[in-house]
Amino acid sequence: MGVSKAEVLEGYIGEGYQLTSIEKALGLARANSIWPLPFATSCCGIEFMATMASNYDLARFGMERLSFSPRQSDLLMVMGTIAKKMGPVLKQVYTQMAEPKWVIAVGACASSGGIFDTYSVLQGIDKVIPVDVYVPGCPPRPEQIIDGVMKIQELVRHESFRRRYSPEYQHLLEKYQIG
Ligand code: SF4
Repeated sequence: MGVSKAEVLEGYIGEGYQLTSIEKALGLARANSIWPLPFATSCCGIEFMATMASNYDLARFGMERLSFSPRQSDLLMVMGTIAKKMGPVLKQVYTQMAEPKWVIAVGACASSGGIFDTYSVLQGIDKVIPVDVYVPGCPPRPEQIIDGVMKIQELVRHESFRRRYSPEYQHLLEKYQIG
């Protein structure tokens, strides 16, 4: 996907050139170069495989190169039931990712524990890490997962690059005992 007309940045557009702010240019670059880390533990992971396959082709965006290395990823996609024992592992993966980073909780289990209201299952990954976008469903359809990625792109595009240094963000990390 190239830079569509909708993505033309605010600013002054002249013959063969455009003036805009560094923040808007950075937002556009970041939103179109997201590298997801799929953290799949159960059935929602299978739905993600379908999302990546030729029918739905998540790669139509041309930027979502999957990485299983936290240090080379900036979007953590959590798909599946997360047992309480897995909580610290998930948190460590998140901590190892460099800023700026974003998180999608894909499906009911990752978002809220889903149907597994039991002693062993984490009732939502936001108990251990901050979440940016929740995708509902058990499992969510590939269209919903793609919609979640597009919501993240929207968020990234408009996020101030100063947000990561803001007292609010520091407070959020402190709340999760991260950092
Ligand atoms: S939300 Fe449903 S489909 Fe997804 S991991 Fe949980 S039980 Fe499986």
